[in-house]
Amino acid sequence: MKNSILLIVAFLVGSIAMAQDQKQKDTEWEQKFEQLGTILPTPNVYRTASGAPGHQYWQQKADYKMKIVLDDSNQSITGSETITYYNNSPDNLEYLWVQLDQNMRASDSDSPLVGRGTMRDTLSAIAVFRLAGGNEYDGGFKIKSVKSGGKGMSYTINKTMMRIDLDQPLKSGGNMSFSIDWMYNINNRMTDGGRSGLEYFEKEDNYLYTIAQFFPRMAVYIDNEGWQNKQFLGSGEFALTFGDYEVDLTVPSDFIVGATGTLENANEVLTTDQMDRFEQAKKSYDKPVIIVTEKEAKKNEKSKATGTKTWRFKAKNVRDYAFCASRKFIWDAMAVKLSDGNEPLAMSYYPKEGNPLWEEFSTLAVKQTLETYSKFTVEYTYPVAISVHTASIGMEYPMICFNYGRPNEDGSYSDRLKHGMISVIIHEVGHNFFPMIINSDERQWTWMDEGLNTFVQYLTEQEFDDNYLDYEYPSRRGPAANIVPYMSGENGLVRPIMTNSEQIRQFGSNAYAKPATALNLLRTTIMGPELFDKAFKTYAERWAFKHPTPADLFRTMEDASAVDLDWFWRGWFYGTDYVDVSLDNVRWFQMQTEENGLETRNIKGAGQGIDANDKGKKDLASTPEPFVFKEWEGKYREYNQGVDNNRIKQAADGKNFYELTLKNKGGLVSPILIQWTYVDGSVELEKIPAEIWKINEKEVTKVFMKDKEVAKIVIDPDKMTADAYTDNNVYPRSNEGDRFEQFKEGKD
Ligand SMILES: [Zn+2]
Repeated sequence: MKNSILLIVAFLVGSIAMAQDQKQKDTEWEQKFEQLGTILPTPNVYRTASGAPGHQYWQQKADYKMKIVLDDSNQSITGSETITYYNNSPDNLEYLWVQLDQNMRASDSDSPLVGRGTMRDTLSAIAVFRLAGGNEYDGGFKIKSVKSGGKGMSYTINKTMMRIDLDQPLKSGGNMSFSIDWMYNINNRMTDGGRSGLEYFEKEDNYLYTIAQFFPRMAVYIDNEGWQNKQFLGSGEFALTFGDYEVDLTVPSDFIVGATGTLENANEVLTTDQMDRFEQAKKSYDKPVIIVTEKEAKKNEKSKATGTKTWRFKAKNVRDYAFCASRKFIWDAMAVKLSDGNEPLAMSYYPKEGNPLWEEFSTLAVKQTLETYSKFTVEYTYPVAISVHTASIGMEYPMICFNYGRPNEDGSYSDRLKHGMISVIIHEVGHNFFPMIINSDERQWTWMDEGLNTFVQYLTEQEFDDNYLDYEYPSRRGPAANIVPYMSGENGLVRPIMTNSEQIRQFGSNAYAKPATALNLLRTTIMGPELFDKAFKTYAERWAFKHPTPADLFRTMEDASAVDLDWFWRGWFYGTDYVDVSLDNVRWFQMQTEENGLETRNIKGAGQGIDANDKGKKDLASTPEPFVFKEWEGKYREYNQGVDNNRIKQAADGKNFYELTLKNKGGLVSPILIQWTYVDGSVELEKIPAEIWKINEKEVTKVFMKDKEVAKIVIDPDKMTADAYTDNNVYPRSNEGDRFEQFKEGKD
């Protein structure tokens, strides 16, 4: 009995040792190259496994006819809209959901309740103002009526969503019209914040309105979600349905208005001179034409007209609507010739406070954006693209966006402000493509529009300087090295890119900078521009004027390129690891021959290599380690046929064999860019695909055969892979006294 217990104990100890051994081995593998398979939604007839819309893809449509009155004397908007909703889904709908975004500012809003805050020993005036309940501003939609065929409809408002119950279900393939009347008080964007609202100019008692989310909008009903009726809390932006708009905007008669769509009655709202200049602008391809001059704007803002004018606009196939209005506006425009023959107007609206910066750069930035984005995504087919000046924000809508960039009162401005303004304009105009045309769900995924848009913004900035500046554009987001502090930062504060809009921490880094950098790195370092550009454009073309999801992007990028990117999406979009490749050991070998004398050395003592972290080590190795050539002895005759031992031996004779040991210290698997500097001073760059890590994700050893002797090895010399710690990329570690430096200094 005792003996068998001892045996069992011995056996158990052995098992534990084995299990530990096994465990150690398994940690080398965290399935970083496993196919996304189960993580992605199951393909179906609406969305295919290739990432394209399926053969039964459908989407809803909502057309709007609106009459809007902007009351400048008490800063409110009154509206009346008729929505015609087309149910193209295969489902009968018992009710409709309508978004009431202004209710984020209503007294019962959840937004202030779920916002967090801490006390500090110093609080800014605006912080105290907001804590103290603000200015008792009465925000939110006042819904006056919801009717169909003149008959009131039953509706329920739940915060920012309104459910309209239908007497009869709206049948699949059917459509229905209903009307909503409403009003709301416009928020002061400068004190209450927000994406839209008013700015008050105290000096001449004038308002500048940038207005959006101003009307009840249809929620999206979609194949992968049903009704997207997730409440609007503030961070997660919008999910919207495409449709056609006819909008009458009634404003004080001395106001200038810019809006989504084509101005249908320019001759009724502009002076003869302004009409002439508007026509000139449509044929001006090299520079903007001023339609409303600074002089006219200054005259306008000195008095207040008592009458009103109605500006009529039409827009086709847009997912939203916005406008700007003020008597302060200067207005310029020019035509942009795109390659498919479209000639949209690039336009800017700005008060005198925006000059001289705005008249110089705004419309040119709009033009460059349309050109670059049309090249990399789909050609811009809307008739106009408008940039509107604001004091402090950047916000996008179809064909129109609100952008910051205000010089000092004396007209002076810093380079920082100038680049900030150009970047914001490119970014917000770029949003015409993501998400206005390639219509992703912003409430769910911030990165799908912000990240993709920031990536093409980077490409646009790089083209802008070629055309309009005599220096390299200082792009903030896009270059790999710029993302390192975020990605290698405190892990608890880093969330995966694939995180819902409301739960993101470090919003700008997570949803803008990291996905933009990931795509830039994918383009330059992993796929190469040719494969990447075709695949990215394919995604844009497949999903233009449709509703893509993340899986549609992930799948299309592989489908059009034959590059397995599952590891890339897994690492960069679903994970929080960072890149840190360390070159830990290098061994140098040569083949032992009778002639080279290597055979006289003691082979048994060789093979120690050089520890890269040994700071005392100033050189690769002064002499190579030898290896013995062993002749090919095929076990079977046929296997040995054609093998010429002498030829193989000759090919290896005098060559340098370098065995590199690399460690993946950051966790994110990465391609390895190796720069070899030879003792003669020549340099070679070699790219190893990320799949080198596919068996052992933590450590790899690989042998390279080189004609020339190597003096120095640097991993990722041009900072293309977002490698966080570059000290461990250099071999030998110490810069002083390495053989390449000696060569350069003529000591060798
Ligand atoms: Zn954006």
